[in-house]
Amino acid sequence: MNSSKKLTLTFAGGTGSVTGANFLLEGGEGEQHKKFLIDCGLAQGSKRAEESNLKPFIYDPSTIDVLFITHAHIDHIGRIPKLIHDGFKGKIYSTIPTKEITELMLEDTVNILSHSHHDGSELLKQIYTKENIDKAMNMWEVIDYHQDLTIGDFIFRYRDAGHVLGSGMLEIIYNNKKLIFTGDLGNSPSPLLRDTETLSNVDYLIMESVYGDRNHIARNERRTKFEETIQDNYKRKGTLVIPTFSLERAQELLFEMDQLVEHDRVPTMPIFFDSPLAIKLTKIYSKYTRYFNDFARKQIGDGDNIFNFPGLKFTLLTEESKEIIHEHNPKIIIAGSGMSNGGRILHHEANYLPDANNTLLLTGYQAEGTLGRHIEDGDKQIRISGQEVDVRAHIVFIDGYSGHKDSDHLIEFVQEIADTVKKVFVVMGEPKSSMFLTQRLRDFLGVQAYAPEENDVVELDCE
Ligand SMILES: [Zn+2]
Repeated sequence: MNSSKKLTLTFAGGTGSVTGANFLLEGGEGEQHKKFLIDCGLAQGSKRAEESNLKPFIYDPSTIDVLFITHAHIDHIGRIPKLIHDGFKGKIYSTIPTKEITELMLEDTVNILSHSHHDGSELLKQIYTKENIDKAMNMWEVIDYHQDLTIGDFIFRYRDAGHVLGSGMLEIIYNNKKLIFTGDLGNSPSPLLRDTETLSNVDYLIMESVYGDRNHIARNERRTKFEETIQDNYKRKGTLVIPTFSLERAQELLFEMDQLVEHDRVPTMPIFFDSPLAIKLTKIYSKYTRYFNDFARKQIGDGDNIFNFPGLKFTLLTEESKEIIHEHNPKIIIAGSGMSNGGRILHHEANYLPDANNTLLLTGYQAEGTLGRHIEDGDKQIRISGQEVDVRAHIVFIDGYSGHKDSDHLIEFVQEIADTVKKVFVVMGEPKSSMFLTQRLRDFLGVQAYAPEENDVVELDCE
């Protein structure tokens, strides 16, 4: 090896796309030369992206020393079983909630695949096995936020990203130079989580850019609209159906409803939390309340079970879910998936969308091609499991529930380190979003920002 203090960074995934995060960092002299991966996520969205998940990695997984995980969304963890299947024998590190959430998320994927009969699903079934998930859990160690981990000439620590429970930015110190991999950055302030930590003295920043070209509406506006939607549905004696993501969004909605019901802002009525994955994830949230922000911890300290309130029913079993239709209106149903491309929400949409007294509330981004997108676009007739369904229910869309920082807040985040940072690599966004943010960073902050392309390799000078 050469004796200069240079690190090599390969953008193996997560460029030109929100999903598929996968970065390879290598360096260190002689015996201390190491190879680290940061995240190993599934590419999602287009058919081409999904097929790319089965292709070989561009590096040899058996040569990787350590995999660091920033957080447990599937686009950051989804290819771990494949990495193990292809020979990875190193260690995995994350915070403890990330490890526990990952196990549930991967098991859920195994479960979905076991019912899938698509082309190529046979190959996926060979990779997504209980055995490969168990192997991952056995090689996985946890470190807390701010706890130092030394490997060779490197020091690693996580800083709170405020995105989902357990999410961390990975800070790496090498020869007194500091690198940060942001993972996803939370839309702080969050109802439950602490704010994204501010950074200082960073030399190289590898950052997400999902909302690099857009801003969200204000948070109090979103809360008012949520309250109004619940009240309108109550007055109409309808059913309010809310498709939701199981991780973070579902727990945020529960906490916000807990606050509304317990402060008599909305009437008590039956509210069904109808997602087995979200129910299991909520248990992990209840276990790690020490990671919540001061406000949420104060509610808990004052004796409130923030994920339970009068009227709320958790329907874990399929039979319980099927009983919901017999419950009188007004009522509320929260179910997955968030974009209506699978899960129990489909049955509810088929049942309730044809009635003009009902309401469907969309709280998240609906990707092109999903059923949720068709509904958001105002289609009056949709197909659910091969059956025509008329859409007469009210469709309400509340922006601002995003779990990601918007464009202005991403700029603010980088501003703190604008005087020290040598290079900013803008990744994990659609091309137009990444390009827009890159240009804004250059123009407003005068930093050297780049949007790398897939498989680009850069040298980071750490002299
Ligand atoms: Zn994420």
